[in-house]
Amino acid sequence: MKSAGVRGPVSIEATEERKSRVLVIGGGVAGMSASRALSSLGHAVSLIERTGHLGGRAARAGLAFPDLRPCREAVSKLIDQVTGDPAIEVLPSREIVSWGREDGRHAVELDDGRRIEADAVVVATGLEGVPAALVPEYGHGRKGVLTAQELEERLSAGAPLIEGELRSAVFVQCVGSRTERRGVPYCSALCCANSIKNALALKLEDPSCEVAVLYIDIRTTGPGQEALYREARRRGVRFIRGQPSLVTERDGRLLVCGENTLLRELYEIPADLVVLATGLRQSPSNLWMFDDLGIAQGTAGFPCLDGSRASAEGIFFAGSARGPMDLPAAERDARACALDVHEHLRGSRS
Ligand SMILES: Cc1cc2nc3c(=O)[nH]c(=O)nc-3n(C[C@H](O)[C@H](O)[C@H](O)COP(=O)(O)OP(=O)(O)OC[C@H]3O[C@@H](n4cnc5c(N)ncnc54)[C@H](O)[C@@H]3O)c2cc1C
Repeated sequence: MKSAGVRGPVSIEATEERKSRVLVIGGGVAGMSASRALSSLGHAVSLIERTGHLGGRAARAGLAFPDLRPCREAVSKLIDQVTGDPAIEVLPSREIVSWGREDGRHAVELDDGRRIEADAVVVATGLEGVPAALVPEYGHGRKGVLTAQELEERLSAGAPLIEGELRSAVFVQCVGSRTERRGVPYCSALCCANSIKNALALKLEDPSCEVAVLYIDIRTTGPGQEALYREARRRGVRFIRGQPSLVTERDGRLLVCGENTLLRELYEIPADLVVLATGLRQSPSNLWMFDDLGIAQGTAGFPCLDGSRASAEGIFFAGSARGPMDLPAAERDARACALDVHEHLRGSRS
């Protein structure tokens, strides 16, 4: 189903004069930014998005760290630019079903039977959340226990976070991240800044609400993130080192139990809302696609590209498909990717 604002295929007459066609897979911020940059470099683009909507995760998020501006603002502008660009053919609700090479070009078939030939391919398929069910003791599915992504979706839709009054909220970090057994072994890079952002937003809205963040380490590496962390502490958000061992219920409220590993004290925090910062991973269906594309995979399915951003087959990667990154980084990465594709195509023509 096509959503408002996303057009079907445009006429390619407008692109006949274009040098080469590039297939971009994934219509998040990275895929859209790469498409825009490729268009401005003179290439025709076919942009495939698996859902009916452009924008990826950012289109379903509330406020963006570090400046707490609505994510939708930045994303809507990019969507308008992409859908208004005659050199970019937007193909929502489509996926690739088969793949091959013909006369040095990539030839793909989509699930609607359509065939596209392209001179280069950009994979911008992003990441998905590690399933919260991998850590069942945190009680995802109980009333009031949400993943960070579910919280973002409620915030973005303006929906109530819980039924009733919110007196206490607890954010649990590294759920299915930095673990060898139940999730992914690496740091998902943006969950600390994301939880701090939402913890601060709750405090700003209601200073009497008790807000705690339970962490292994706090990692605020991007611009403005440390300032956000300090501001959250200044406003009274409590940061407690030590993930909980259990989220349960007592007297009709959630109860978060664990050990403060700095003070060596047990804690029990009554809560109305518990937010699980689940890690980020490659989606299993995309790992199959990478196999079909002949892309070697390293740690947890990330492409092994030997320090470059392209596979030997001339398939390029952009944005968080290369590893977890925030929105500005995904945009920058995608523009840099477009330049690499441009260089590659120039080289292959000369
Ligand atoms: C809970 C959460 C909160 C966040 N908050 C912030 C924040 O406050 N500030 C900030 O800067 N960053 C934030 N981020 C990070 C931000 O969401 C990412 O930087 C951004 O989404 C990366 O964009 P992307 O295009 O690489 O991936 P995505 O946004 O994931 O987009 C990928 C797109 O590809 C599509 N796709 C996937 N597979 C296929 C396929 N096989 N065929 C076709 N299409 C496919 C998907 O449907 C999706 O539309 C947050 C992330 C999370 C998880």
